[in-house]
Amino acid sequence: MTVPRLCGGGIASSPQSLTSSKETVMKTVIRRDTVVIGAGLSGLYAALTLKEAGQSVAVIEARDRVGGLTLSPQSPWLGRRIDLGGQWVSQKHTRICTLIRRYSVPLIRQFTAGEQVCIHDDKTFRGPLTTIPGMSEADFAEYTKAFDKLYQTFDALPANPWEGELAAKLDLMTYDSWVREMLPPGLARNALLRLPGAYYGVMPEEVSALELLQKLRGCGGPRFMSDMETGGMSEHMWGSQAVSEGMAGDLAGDVFLASPARRVEWSGSGVVVETDTTRFEAARLVFACAPAMIQQIAFSPALPAARRLLHQRFPNGRNTKAVIAYDKPFWRKKGLSGRVISTSGSVTAVLDIGGAEPGPGVLIALFSGKAALRVDPLEGDARRKAVLGLLAQALGSEALEPQEFHLQVWADEEWSAGASSPFLIPGQLTHYGAGLRAPVGPIHWAGTHMATEFRGYMEGALAAGEAAAGQILATDKA
Ligand SMILES: Cc1cc2nc3c(=O)[nH]c(=O)nc-3n(C[C@H](O)[C@H](O)[C@H](O)COP(=O)(O)OP(=O)(O)OC[C@H]3O[C@@H](n4cnc5c(N)ncnc54)[C@H](O)[C@@H]3O)c2cc1C
Repeated sequence: MTVPRLCGGGIASSPQSLTSSKETVMKTVIRRDTVVIGAGLSGLYAALTLKEAGQSVAVIEARDRVGGLTLSPQSPWLGRRIDLGGQWVSQKHTRICTLIRRYSVPLIRQFTAGEQVCIHDDKTFRGPLTTIPGMSEADFAEYTKAFDKLYQTFDALPANPWEGELAAKLDLMTYDSWVREMLPPGLARNALLRLPGAYYGVMPEEVSALELLQKLRGCGGPRFMSDMETGGMSEHMWGSQAVSEGMAGDLAGDVFLASPARRVEWSGSGVVVETDTTRFEAARLVFACAPAMIQQIAFSPALPAARRLLHQRFPNGRNTKAVIAYDKPFWRKKGLSGRVISTSGSVTAVLDIGGAEPGPGVLIALFSGKAALRVDPLEGDARRKAVLGLLAQALGSEALEPQEFHLQVWADEEWSAGASSPFLIPGQLTHYGAGLRAPVGPIHWAGTHMATEFRGYMEGALAAGEAAAGQILATDKA
């Protein structure tokens, strides 16, 4: 019998033989106050919060690593870690910034010197970072006006965004139909339709307008989110997975890798979570993974219908990210910042993450939502060719000869099922909003999609983990 791999060393509990299911499988038994499913940022932070409050915990992780949607392999050529998942933060993301300091993760200011390139269909335009190059003054004025309307609309929503007439109206529309109602065809409309993909990997026609608008509001609004001076894109890590590894180190002996949760038995008095080798018994359970993942787990008894149906209406989007390293940041010599955007969906964003110090050139290229469909369906080397071709179109033919190329298609990942933050389809937030975070018996819900602020971000993942831990501690105290 294989015992699950422990992260950070240590012995979890003395193995004990028990029988389980029809085939009489011998399983190790581990007992803790709380079991957490998912060793991404949210699950690890929930566990750490509980452990620091004196509880015993076990974190069960399907993969053979911690970090979930943060993934930072070592780059042999750069001699440091690179990031294929979450990376950018703002100082307003207070929890993640505290952990970055606690675990000494390198944090770099976003490089912003030079112009940006915008791709409209087959044409490229360059201009200042504060504009959308190639957009006429009239289109830009219309785009700015539409942005103001977007802010006015989400500001008009109540604190509980699922309440009231405006919410009811917006929840019946997709974000796509809301934008089309507001703007005629053109670049301004295209630019606004980029937002769901850019921030959440979602297509505008699949997400509820209400869901998207309240998410944007909770993240400080799109102007803040894309701000490279003080906002959501102002600083980035080199090796964000180290935050999760740091927490796993502090949870030494309590994190069980390569252990997908297969079955959950629950009642008023507690839970049993079974992996292939182990039976975890606890008073409480925190789910810190996407609803699409929860749906693959067998429950006994079944979850209440309202919760099961909610999980079916909470899919993931698509995120694909490339990291490309060059001898030199050749674009900087041309007066370019390395930033590339597109109104026609060729790419979500390209950014220079090399930092201000002289050194090699490093770009990331993000393909989210619809833009991911330009890369994901391709096979083998065609994916690399598509990414490099796009970079060459925007920045020059030097882009075709990188020293190193990494590509992560998150939709290909068994334990992520897309990325980056699950979203509600139309008509659901008004229906399920009030009960979204309510525990079901001993089961609590975390994951970035459960956050009220900075949902979809690493900060949201931590906030949701902290909130689930807070619910447990409050219930246990009462
Ligand atoms: C390409 C990309 C770029 C991003 N950029 C940014 C950014 O710049 N800034 C930012 O703040 N955020 C960014 N994000 C989002 C951020 O990474 C996520 O919001 C955050 O990491 C989510 O954490 P989580 O713990 O909620 O979920 P996850 O990281 O998804 O963790 C869930 C964990 O549960 C595990 N799991 C699933 N099923 C089971 C099971 N049955 N049993 C046991 N374990 C299971 C999974 O393996 C996973 O480890 C980005 C995401 C992507 C994909």
